[in-house]
Amino acid sequence: MSTDAMSTLSQTTSYVDLHIHSNQSDGCFTAREIIDIAVRRRLKAIAITDHDHIQGLGEAMKYAQQQGMEFITGVEISARAPSFDLHLLGYYFDYRNQQLNEYLRHFQNERLNRARKIIELLKKHGIKLSFDLIQKKAGGAIGRPHIADAMLEEGYIHSYQEAFDKYIGDGCPCCVPKYKISPGEAAALINQAGGVCVIAHPGTDISDSGLLDLIKVGIEGVETIHPRHTPAQVNHYREIVQKYGLLETGGSDCHGDRKTQVLIGHFKVPYSMVEKMKERIFGKHQVSF
Ligand code: AMP
Ligand code: FE
Ligand code: FE
Ligand code: ZN
Repeated sequence: MSTDAMSTLSQTTSYVDLHIHSNQSDGCFTAREIIDIAVRRRLKAIAITDHDHIQGLGEAMKYAQQQGMEFITGVEISARAPSFDLHLLGYYFDYRNQQLNEYLRHFQNERLNRARKIIELLKKHGIKLSFDLIQKKAGGAIGRPHIADAMLEEGYIHSYQEAFDKYIGDGCPCCVPKYKISPGEAAALINQAGGVCVIAHPGTDISDSGLLDLIKVGIEGVETIHPRHTPAQVNHYREIVQKYGLLETGGSDCHGDRKTQVLIGHFKVPYSMVEKMKERIFGKHQVSF
């Protein structure tokens, strides 16, 4: 495509960012800050996809509507397939759905128990952290990033990354595995709440055969555009999407890292992907907010 044609396309195409974390999980920005940034970056729609957490989506949706921003309910669910861990993105579910809320409440309790266990293990390595302090840091879903922040603040490590490299990263001495549901259960949970489930950033940890197994258990789409996907991976996953008639999504996975890395809108996808998602969902369910 010529440069002129590309610039005409970018002027006429509306874009969306379907993968953003707020301070309800391990992001830095509040939902309002995210929406304000998205408005400034002229996005047509966004989805906030916090890890295993949906409280606050109702408020965020109201604020987005006031700002003229289309808001899609989202969540990033931690799941466990037989031989690998993965993240699944849920979209367009009813955030008030009882079963979904019950599951996520249970999951949050499991996260609290896990954080307590990690703190106990760190104590054995001479690192003494206050559980209450860490819980205060976590807006909603308490996780390893909050523990890493506390370790840095208390002077036990020299950088945030050191916490993961030495203590709490996967396979490290103070890492405790997370409680997780299976991909099929996650898909059923999101479906019964009126939404669809998509595989998040498969290029980071999923083989092609693993990906096809996920489609068999009810996952309906693949996140192709993601900061950790190479151009070759984007093309590869697009081919899979087309071959199997799947939904395609993408986004920045912005965590706002200490508010310096504001990726919102830097990895965006055309609004037509949202339209395809709507076609599929509203063909199946009647959802109204
Ligand atoms: P959790 O949900 O508590 O297991 O925490 C997962 C989050 O921790 C991820 O979304 C990352 O933000 C962060 N994380 C996990 N492993 C690492 C790592 N090796 N280096 C840096 N951050 C990590
Ligand atoms: Fe994260
Ligand atoms: Fe993820
Ligand atoms: Zn994410």
